[in-house]
Amino acid sequence: MNLSDGIGVLSGVGPKRAENLKELGIETVEDLLTYYPFRYDDIQEKEISEIQDQEKVTLKGIAVSEAVVSRYGYKKSRLTFRMMQDHAVINVSFFNQPYLKDKIIQSEEIAVYGKWDAKRKALNGMKILASKNDGEEFAPIYHVNKKVRQSSLIQLIRTGFEKYESLIEEILPLELLEKYRLMSRKEAMFAMHFPTTPEESHQAKRRVVFEEFLLFQLKIQGLKKQEKAEKNGLAIYYDVDRLKEFTQSLPFELTKAQKKVTNEICRDLMSPRHMQRLLQGDVGSGKTVVAAIALYATMTAGFQGALMVPTEILAQQHMESLQQLYNPLEVRTALLTGSTKTKERREILAQLASGEIDIIIGTHALIQEDVLFHQLGLVITDEQHRFGVNQRRILREKGLKPDVLFMTATPIPRTLAITAYGEMDVSIIDEMPAGRIPIETRWIRPPQLDTVLDWMRKELKQGHQVYVICPLIEESEALDVKNATEIYEHMTEVFHPDYQVGLLHGKMKNAEKDSIMQEFKENHLQLLVSTTVIEVGVNVPNATVMLIMDADRFGLAQLHQLRGRVGRGSEASYCILVANPKNEMGVERMKIMTETNNGFVLSEKDLELRGPGEVFGARQSGIPQFIVGDIVSDFNILEVARQEASDIWKKINWWVLPDYQGLAKKVKPAEDEAQFFD
Ligand code: ADP
Ligand code: MG
Repeated sequence: MNLSDGIGVLSGVGPKRAENLKELGIETVEDLLTYYPFRYDDIQEKEISEIQDQEKVTLKGIAVSEAVVSRYGYKKSRLTFRMMQDHAVINVSFFNQPYLKDKIIQSEEIAVYGKWDAKRKALNGMKILASKNDGEEFAPIYHVNKKVRQSSLIQLIRTGFEKYESLIEEILPLELLEKYRLMSRKEAMFAMHFPTTPEESHQAKRRVVFEEFLLFQLKIQGLKKQEKAEKNGLAIYYDVDRLKEFTQSLPFELTKAQKKVTNEICRDLMSPRHMQRLLQGDVGSGKTVVAAIALYATMTAGFQGALMVPTEILAQQHMESLQQLYNPLEVRTALLTGSTKTKERREILAQLASGEIDIIIGTHALIQEDVLFHQLGLVITDEQHRFGVNQRRILREKGLKPDVLFMTATPIPRTLAITAYGEMDVSIIDEMPAGRIPIETRWIRPPQLDTVLDWMRKELKQGHQVYVICPLIEESEALDVKNATEIYEHMTEVFHPDYQVGLLHGKMKNAEKDSIMQEFKENHLQLLVSTTVIEVGVNVPNATVMLIMDADRFGLAQLHQLRGRVGRGSEASYCILVANPKNEMGVERMKIMTETNNGFVLSEKDLELRGPGEVFGARQSGIPQFIVGDIVSDFNILEVARQEASDIWKKINWWVLPDYQGLAKKVKPAEDEAQFFD
């Protein structure tokens, strides 16, 4: 018997059931025992005065009436009775469970678990608790699907523990267990499912999170060591003189932060170790020029470089900026996107394969199968959070371990980035180019909109342009479009025919979007009403006003991104947030926006207010997903685990030490599947 036994060994699990469990990711007994609930229903008894509306609670009292069942509709029924707690009478009802009638005995004590309706002082019953010494004060709630039900899963987990509990071995060294006063592995695993007190639940989680983070840190730190030792990347011997010449030819002096990150990147390029670096910099901090320098360096060493961006507009924009920066140097650049014509595409592919193109800029079109490089040395992805993990990997695999640089403007607080991204090196541009006029942000309530529109007319009169961003209505794309169209019509009413208004939304075809964007860039349109499709990187320096409707529907990081679309020229720019926040948190968020232009401060605040899942959009961010741990609320544990992992790696051949066998077994086999980021 072994924890890695297939789930089929448990009685009651046949091939069909095993198949259903597999859909939940449960294949072995260990999978089952570590399939933790995502929350618990607190079924401890409560007093009425302690309960919130709609809260799920257990109430105990004396049944003071008989249960009455009334039937209605087809096979529908409602059972009601009254219960007295202290001196309060509570109405209890159960829907479609007429068979409970016999369990309710007048004048006897009864405990009912259900949802509290504060207005009606009534309980919508969900179940009757058999007796108090159930021991089950917190009912675990699992993610399940139609084929696997809560109750049967719980039953199966109990069976699993009965048969296999004695096989659960400790994997943490005694030293760590004592140092952090951690529960044993066996105890913690059981208490994760069936805690008897809040404290026990807390301790179990603390132990499990620590283990999860420690294993993660051990793995990535191991990978990093391995990469360093292997020197298995490319050594890009760039031409230092030519690179200097290039940086001196730039129309501006690099900021200190740009110089620092450029040095970090160049050092990595030169070294034979495989670069995997994340470049973070707030919107407008000047990442593009850093990319241009790295790509140029790569070219002088005889390698090709690729820059991948998420949208066609951005690709074109980068192409233009790079060509400007490289002029008059001899750099053979090319642009490859979805709309590149077949004939031109064929030529580009041939030139890429023969090495006649030095630097290619493009969208997803770069990762198609027939795109082959002569000698790809450096891959850069801009706005990296916009790409899926696989897309990034495919491009990388087009070379022999080319160096990789990810750029992102989604600022992740420094400490968090370093800890969470573990195996990646992180470079941060934490300074803006000099001479920027800070964007002025104002928050107004909807009734003040007319005044703002009057003021906007003045901006338009000076020849400036305006973005109007419509809120995202998550429930339905159709509503989204309808809403954007209404705002568009309103703006047209107010400003037409003096000014031209354009509309951009997610339902439009790419070509259509691009052509509207182009018209805005060329100032044929002075106002652009848009859903958030413009969020990423567009550059229209003549736009000086960003008006965001229902701004409280957006995350702070997203508002900050949107705000970054203005303030790109030499004129003073404004961001106007129109919002009527419904709670304190909303007010707080609007205020913060008006108080700071620093993306890192905002993102830290956003994390604090909303948590990482919301802020980074779980999947896209590239931030590893932990099953139990939460990189923000459990940040302290993450930090401790990182330190401990680093200390463990300092021990010579730690994996042969007797007390570390448990960890070694967990860390070792996963090495080749430990692809956390790409
Ligand atoms: P982002 O980091 O958001 O991609 P960009 O690379 O688009 O920012 O840079 C924003 C603007 O700042 C560009 O117009 C760029 O030419 C300019 N810029 C970049 N670096 C400097 C600098 N050191 N001094 C002055 N302007 C700069
Ligand atoms: Mg950029």
